[in-house]
Amino acid sequence: MTIQNVYDLAVIGAGPAGIVGATTAASLGARVVLIDRYGDLGGAGANTGTVPSKTLRETALALSGIRSRDLDGVDLSLRREATVADLMRREHAVRKALNRTLAQLVEASSVELIVGDAHFEDAHTIGVRSGATSSLIRAERTLISTGSSPYRPNGFPFDRPGVYDSDTILELNTIPKSLAVVGAGAVGSEYACTFSALGTKVHLIDSRDVLLPFLDSEVSTALTRAVRQSGIEMHCSERVAECNGAGGEITVTLQSGAIVRTEAVLVAAGRRSNTVSLNLAAAGLAPGERGDLKVDDHYRTGVPHIYAAGDVIGFPGLASTGMQQARRAMSVAFGGAGNLPTRDILPSAVYTIPEVAMAGDTEQAVHAAGVDYVVGRARYTDNPRGCIIGEKEGFLKLIFRREDLKLLGVHAIGEFASELVHIGLIAMAADCDATVFSGLSFNVPTLGALYQDATWRLINERRRTAASRTSAI
Ligand SMILES: Cc1cc2nc3c(=O)[nH]c(=O)nc-3n(C[C@H](O)[C@H](O)[C@H](O)COP(=O)(O)OP(=O)(O)OC[C@H]3O[C@@H](n4cnc5c(N)ncnc54)[C@H](O)[C@@H]3O)c2cc1C
Repeated sequence: MTIQNVYDLAVIGAGPAGIVGATTAASLGARVVLIDRYGDLGGAGANTGTVPSKTLRETALALSGIRSRDLDGVDLSLRREATVADLMRREHAVRKALNRTLAQLVEASSVELIVGDAHFEDAHTIGVRSGATSSLIRAERTLISTGSSPYRPNGFPFDRPGVYDSDTILELNTIPKSLAVVGAGAVGSEYACTFSALGTKVHLIDSRDVLLPFLDSEVSTALTRAVRQSGIEMHCSERVAECNGAGGEITVTLQSGAIVRTEAVLVAAGRRSNTVSLNLAAAGLAPGERGDLKVDDHYRTGVPHIYAAGDVIGFPGLASTGMQQARRAMSVAFGGAGNLPTRDILPSAVYTIPEVAMAGDTEQAVHAAGVDYVVGRARYTDNPRGCIIGEKEGFLKLIFRREDLKLLGVHAIGEFASELVHIGLIAMAADCDATVFSGLSFNVPTLGALYQDATWRLINERRRTAASRTSAI
């Protein structure tokens, strides 16, 4: 077979990382080809992960009327039975709209798109199979952004109706009355909350004793409490010993001997990088245990002209992070790195109910690093907008270095927490101190004003402490 085309860059995988990588390189003048095995662009981000799960969550909240809010005197109990058709109709519409937008973006960026399965023939040659046809292309550089798939641990009968992973859960045709979620990471916790909002009796099983321990511990403790209060039954410090199904009921036996009987099981046991079919050895690459690729600070693999970004390189496995990695990698590769900030502060959000988000350091991390710090806190219930929306659990926590009140970390739980942390993210990236919040005027009523509330509380507390010290002398 002869080589059909030569490119500056071949991008394998058109998820969030691949699309951003391809369009960034094209904007820097590179001749780019983007290869994906599916014509519906957007990868797990658009088709099976980020967007579908958040659409389901929004729809579940709207249909159930539950939200995490408490509007006194207003009956927000389930107003009508949500059917799976209700849920899926919206999910399908949102997904298709996004697929179209991404296809237009790729076309407008003059990126050539090939639909097919890609593999390496050698470090510069990529074979693409599409049905009965095969082609070969040559690329000076390659970006591998093939993403990840749900990891399926042994011992779960995935061939049985009612046993799902985080991809196949989107295929369900009835809302189960009861659901066991195995694994309380971000995906498991989010789906547990969504189904609970839909009235499903949810059991959440995890080997740890607190939800999402990478969060600031105040936030993960508050989330754990809120999740329990919502009616989700948590089985902490537990592992699944056996999972069997018979007669429409699935029995999950835990190592403690406890038995959970449910209509459905969602196994959310992490992800595995999609590298098996790439024939990496032909390019001189060897993946890690879960198929992941190792990269340096510029997202170069062990073969310097081959880059990798997104889920395929493992933790943290977020669409947001994957896009930033790809942008940085391609900016370095094609000479546009000057436009990027010198350091990445990557925010994260988990769309549980209530949602949680963070950027920068946790209090545990600051403490462990021996940094002298102070904390400012503000509760949604003390903020006019928080009161109006009836959000009971929410709070914002700001961690400042004591000596100069530089912002080190921002943590939030509650409605719009994922949006709220961006204010703190920008303040950190700009190396701001507390005066950026205390000295500016914020719109009222807004949740953004929580930054002022938290900062002024802290400043006033420090003033009171200083005054009482002086008067004691
Ligand atoms: C339920 C769920 C909820 C999530 N929620 C969030 C969230 O709220 N926020 C967030 O930031 N992230 C979230 N994520 C994670 C997010 O979806 C992923 O981090 C993101 O999609 C990874 O992007 P990617 O470009 O690396 O890979 P992917 O999106 O997985 O895309 C990879 C693409 O590569 C293609 N491909 C693979 N192998 C080949 C091959 N050999 N040849 C051709 N094409 C190939 C695939 O078809 C796919 O289109 C969630 C994930 C899940 C499962």
